[in-house]
Amino acid sequence: MTKSKLNSFRRALETKLAELGNGNRNRDVIAIESTPDEMDRVQHVSERDYAISSLEMNSNRLGEIRRALHRMETGTFGLCLGCDEEITAKRLAALPWASYCIACQDAAERGALAHGDEIDPSFLMTA
Ligand SMILES: [Zn+2]
Repeated sequence: MTKSKLNSFRRALETKLAELGNGNRNRDVIAIESTPDEMDRVQHVSERDYAISSLEMNSNRLGEIRRALHRMETGTFGLCLGCDEEITAKRLAALPWASYCIACQDAAERGALAHGDEIDPSFLMTA
């Protein structure tokens, strides 16, 4: 991979990292105290659930991005963690934090399927 390509992926990752970092203000919502009004309380609970699930998603993605940046430091960025082959530029352009090539990602998802996790069949048709 060329240095300029690598730099453009680094910029993409750092931009995403900053974006997700801002998402952490959601923590304020989680801290909301109970209120005497039942409607308010219900509203706050669903807001809190939403904030918690998006925080979890953010922190997973943050971890992936940090690991991708770390792989840049160690010179292994763009190599699949499963088979050591290069991840295609097209895939990295869409998911610069991808740590597996499509074949390994597929295999992992099939593995999840074999363990009984439900996946919408229509998703598999289009994937
Ligand atoms: Zn692979």
